[in-house]
Amino acid sequence: MDKVDVVIVGSGASGSLLAAKLSQAGKKVLILEAGPELKMSYLYSSQIWARRLKWGGPATETGGKDPISVAFNQGWGSGGVAMHHYAVWLRLYIEDFEMKSRFGRGLKWPISYEELRPFYDQIQREVGISGDAKEEVWRPVGEPYPMPPLQIFNQGRIIEGGFKKLGLRTSSLPVAINSIEYNGRPACIYDGWCDAG
Ligand SMILES: Cc1cc2nc3c(=O)[nH]c(=O)nc-3n(C[C@H](O)[C@H](O)[C@H](O)COP(=O)(O)OP(=O)(O)OC[C@H]3O[C@@H](n4cnc5c(N)ncnc54)[C@H](O)[C@@H]3O)c2cc1C
Repeated sequence: MDKVDVVIVGSGASGSLLAAKLSQAGKKVLILEAGPELKMSYLYSSQIWARRLKWGGPATETGGKDPISVAFNQGWGSGGVAMHHYAVWLRLYIEDFEMKSRFGRGLKWPISYEELRPFYDQIQREVGISGDAKEEVWRPVGEPYPMPPLQIFNQGRIIEGGFKKLGLRTSSLPVAINSIEYNGRPACIYDGWCDAG
């Protein structure tokens, strides 16, 4: 086998992104993936069918006195969990990076939101996020989303009405799902379970 510069274990969102960026920078990258190769044709609108996207490896449990199974949070094969996640791509708040100095909780973060901000902007351009940055008034400062929000259906309208009655505001979620055609990828047709890719 040819020599490689980097070996990455796991082809989930983190491993795949790292591999793409390293190979764009001229590195030879090898990804070792324990799961099957998942194809576009596996993204089928059915919860039952979608089970094949989910974890099929050995059972995993948390440690401690009362371990619980964490299989829900797992995926395997090319794309890993991202193949069946809900694609809600929120930014961390400015305060999240300052929990220690503000509230005396957790550890001191070595980076601030301002340092991470250009990368949030870059990734939302590369991947494409649908949302409404103006409506989402609690969102930390950054570039507006490259696509308008997804449609809101009756269920969402009812929840919105309930919140309004309580004097609370709502906003569309920022999601890595196309509301319009973006970068050569078609718009969502609102048919299917996010759970099924
Ligand atoms: C149902 C669901 C909904 C979610 N919704 C959201 C959401 O809306 N927004 C959000 O931000 N996050 C969401 N998440 C979480 C998010 O999807 C994950 O945190 C993220 O995709 C994890 O990516 P990762 O690359 O770190 O790990 P993974 O995707 O878990 O990748 C790890 C990869 O390593 C492989 N692997 C494991 N062990 C080995 C081994 N020994 N050798 C070789 N390969 C191995 C696995 O097969 C897998 O492909 C959701 C998760 C789930 C399950």
